[in-house]
This record gives sequence, structure tokens and C-alpha cells, in this order.
Amino acid sequence: MEIQILELTDQSARLVISGTSPPIMNALRRALLSEIPKMAIENVEFHMGSIIDEEGNEFESGSPLFDEIIAHRMGLIPIPTDLELYTFRDQCKCGGEGCPTCTIMYSINKKGPCTVYSGDLDPLGDKSLAVKDDLIPIVKLNDGQALLIYATAELGTGRQHAKWQVCQSVGYKYYPTLVITDEAHKYADDLVNAIPGGLLKKKGGKLVAVETDPEACMIIKNHADGIIPDAIKIAGDETKFLFKFETDGSLTAKVALVKALDILDASFMELKEAISSLK
Ligand SMILES: [Zn+2]
Repeated sequence: MEIQILELTDQSARLVISGTSPPIMNALRRALLSEIPKMAIENVEFHMGSIIDEEGNEFESGSPLFDEIIAHRMGLIPIPTDLELYTFRDQCKCGGEGCPTCTIMYSINKKGPCTVYSGDLDPLGDKSLAVKDDLIPIVKLNDGQALLIYATAELGTGRQHAKWQVCQSVGYKYYPTLVITDEAHKYADDLVNAIPGGLLKKKGGKLVAVETDPEACMIIKNHADGIIPDAIKIAGDETKFLFKFETDGSLTAKVALVKALDILDASFMELKEAISSLK
């Protein structure tokens, strides 16, 4: 198997993976979607009653949205996650009570009129745990309204709930290959002249593609169709794939990919051990 990186940013990746098959690509796709853990807000506590600021002004706890909707919106905010550091709460040495290894605590303390954003989530303790995507609106507070919220984030996977889903737009397609039909060879000179950039040439009386990347295939096919429709076709290579995905920012694309592969590796090792132990 070979991997070529077309693009790798903090939050997205485009790869060409060759020497493999659709079931392997699909396993990787599913691992990226539903198996990688990340932190997300799971419990939200709202202060009830009036709130008085330093100048003695009184505010009513509340907002135009139901508390449940605010809690749901907070759950979807990407929380920066260090997978080396955190463990699942139910597997933690604290016995699930909550400790720095399994839980991040945040507070929101805002008084209206204002818009409460994801950046208003204030981590208790380590400030590096502040939300990076800080302009996600949560709710607009009117004059006299205030929110005092305590929230805890914990580890989960997309299999449990979509708020723990790290990757979006995960997909793959066959790598395109050019099929030059006999009909095309008959009109070789016309096609060589019609296709820009010298992408096609004539060799021994036959047409040959100079470039075969996906973009070149599309250009050749589109221009060739203008001369003789369907003389040049695009097929898919069933052993080579264009694979792409994005993350929500809680993990980088590279960390997500390595974690997904680790998870697949562990699953297959478990299967191997189970089979080896059979009599
Ligand atoms: Zn713990």
C-alpha cells in the first residue's frame, strides 16, 4: 500500500491511497467517522435565580432559548482534545467521579445584552483548553438577562453521539484512469490539436496521455468529447483511491488519521488473538 499526500492542513486531508481495495477504504472511513474519541460537553449546570454584578445591577438568569437547546448547542462545540492525556470517564482511575484525566470543566458568565459565543467558555484551570473556534454563537441575551453556566466535557465517540464525531465529509472515490478507444486513435491528429497543454501526444500512430492525474483526465475527456463524443472515456482504478476528510478542529487531520489506523490495527489484532485461541 502506498500513500501520497495531496493536501494536509490542520483540519483537512486529501490523499491518494494505492495498492488497496474498497473494503479497506470503507473500514478506514467508518473508523474516522465513528471510532475516534474526542472531548465534548456532556453535562451542563445552569445557575437559577438572580445574578448581581460588581456594580450592584440585578440580572435575571435566563435567555430566549430553553436550557436544553443551549446545552445541546454547547455539546456540539469542538473541544481541543489531547488523546495522550485523556481517558474515558468510566475507565478512569477516579472511578468516574471526574478528574483532570477524564474531565474538562468550563464556565460561562455573561450578562446581556450580548451574544454568547463559544469563546466565552472559560476553562477552569489550564487555559490552553480554551475553545479554538471562538465565534460559534450559542445564544443572544436580552437586556437584564444573564447566564452563569458550569459545564463538563468528557471523552466519547461518534458511535455514541454525533457530538463526539471528529471527522466530517469522509469519502473516497476510485482514482480516474483514461480509456482511449480505437475510435479515438483514428482521429489522433485532431485530438492532439484540440486538447490544450500538450496533454495528449501521438506515439507510433497511437494516442498516449502525457499527464494522467485526475485534473488532466477531466480536461482531456471534456475537450475530446467536443471532437468525437465518448472516444475517450474515464474509468476507475479499483486498487487506487482519492480519499478525503475534514475534522471539526478538536483533533488535527494527521492525529485523526493515525488514531483511526491504530483503532483498526487493534481491532484486527483482537480478532487474530481470538482466532488463535480456538482449538
Ligand atoms: Zn477521572
